[in-house]
Amino acid sequence: MLIVMTARATEAEVADVVRAITELGFRAHPMPGTMRTAIGITGNAGVIDPARFENMPGVAEAIAISKPYKLVTRDFRPERTVIEIGDAKIGDGGLAIIAGPCAIESRAQAFAIAESVQKSGARFFRGGAFKPRSSPYAFAGLGEEALKILAEIRERFGLKIVTEAVDEAGLEMVERYADMIQIGARNMQNFSLLRRAGRSRLPVLLKRGLAATLEEWLLAAEYIMAEGNYQIVLCERGVRAFTQHARSMLDLAAVPAVRRISHLPVIVDASHATGRKYMVTPLARAGVAVGADGLMVEVHDQPERALSDGAQALGLDEYEQMVRAVRAIHDSLA
Ligand code: PEP
Ligand code: MN
Repeated sequence: MLIVMTARATEAEVADVVRAITELGFRAHPMPGTMRTAIGITGNAGVIDPARFENMPGVAEAIAISKPYKLVTRDFRPERTVIEIGDAKIGDGGLAIIAGPCAIESRAQAFAIAESVQKSGARFFRGGAFKPRSSPYAFAGLGEEALKILAEIRERFGLKIVTEAVDEAGLEMVERYADMIQIGARNMQNFSLLRRAGRSRLPVLLKRGLAATLEEWLLAAEYIMAEGNYQIVLCERGVRAFTQHARSMLDLAAVPAVRRISHLPVIVDASHATGRKYMVTPLARAGVAVGADGLMVEVHDQPERALSDGAQALGLDEYEQMVRAVRAIHDSLA
């Protein structure tokens, strides 16, 4: 259920509704907006009688939400969510670029790439410290050592750090060093990890699962929001399909579909979607053209020597060209 307050409702009236929800044993999620405050209710197993709230002072309407998700919807928050990390933003109408290697392999590698990322004007640096690998024998990241390198990169280049947490213990460590927690495709339905991310003070980048429907993806975001963390960026990174010419199939239609339902920003990862370097720039361009709020892209100073995902990593020059191309497209849409 969603309680929509009138435009003139006072803070005390909002507080009364929140108290009434809490007294019923549910959780209230007040969301102030420019026009009105909405209060989402979670924690109820069954339907709530709207009459309980409809006649309270300041209440415009009590809406039963038939969709399985509530807090992620534009009913709850008509304005778009903007993620702000210092002066770096995602979802403000600009084009956010999150770039960096698949994995942090060494300080020298990470610094060489970060220099190019900074020069390109991107504000976010990515790099895995904990890598979810299909094979137990593959390079799985440097762990805390990589996080320390990432923290140095923030200091040296002023870039905001995005890195993946694959489990709850790792998330705690990531929180100590990073600016944004990535939840990877393979963990999109790791519900205890989602809940833990929901209790974090850091924004969350939530990748779409390899076989997840739009609804399952939004429900994963709902898990995080239901715990009180409203700072989420959704990332379309391709799904399993009949494609053999690419690693996954980038679902570009998901971008406008998400934006229609949800207030959360949505970005496109053309690297994991394709797995092939020559496809990354064309699909990054397409992602921008369909309205993505940003891009995630893997870049490496020596792609042929990368310890993971080398085949999809753009070299430094290719990366720079890609950024120029996607910016031109983004500007043309304004
Ligand atoms: C990654 O971003 O490095 C990654 C492993 O991505 P995904 O979870 O989308 O496969
Ligand atoms: Mn990767």
